[in-house]
Amino acid sequence: MDNENANFTAAQAAAAAAGPTEGDKLRAALDVYGIPSFLVEDGGLSYVMVAVDQTADEDEAHAGPKIFLSSGGDIQRPAEQHDDPWTAMLYDGEGIFIDEAFNVLAGLGVDMECGLVAWCLAHWLKDNARRYPRESPSGRKGLSVPAVAIEVQELPGFFTMPCVRCEMVGRAATGTHMVTAETGYGLASCAGHVDVTCKVTAALGSYEQSQLRALFALCMLMP
Ligand SMILES: [Zn+2]
Repeated sequence: MDNENANFTAAQAAAAAAGPTEGDKLRAALDVYGIPSFLVEDGGLSYVMVAVDQTADEDEAHAGPKIFLSSGGDIQRPAEQHDDPWTAMLYDGEGIFIDEAFNVLAGLGVDMECGLVAWCLAHWLKDNARRYPRESPSGRKGLSVPAVAIEVQELPGFFTMPCVRCEMVGRAATGTHMVTAETGYGLASCAGHVDVTCKVTAALGSYEQSQLRALFALCMLMP
């Protein structure tokens, strides 16, 4: 469709003209598709939030089904530092992780990647938004949020696995606990990061760095 190509080209151009952060570029691309977005930040971590119901204001967006767009955990990095693929994670109104909506290949250059995210999200919303209504008591019908069993074990002193969360911010801390999910995924954690590591481990689908970073960023911001 001509319109599709025009929008995609315009979204890339808008991203190219925007800055200085990768988040600015992404939001400029989303604007071209008429998708409202909100910047959410907390303690050096940040991401872009898009409500599934696009009529939502920022508070309503937090309280309803939403997509978190993230790259490496801090979307306010200078755009030149964009080197992780964008991920789009779907969460319900209570902050429970539902699914990865889509992700976009890295290595295409930040402007084109922003255009692709906007294109993917526009299509995702068109195809899926009605499945995730806001303020509907039956809104979770049909969603399968698996309750993942988590086990936390204290690690004996001779283990020297680092805390994954600490390692992510360049801090060296020996893991004191091992968090294992019934999915088979497991992460080491220092005593201070057991709670967030449990949430991340439950949602983990791979050990890929960008997914780990995105999940830690999002889980730390979750109530
Ligand atoms: Zn730690």
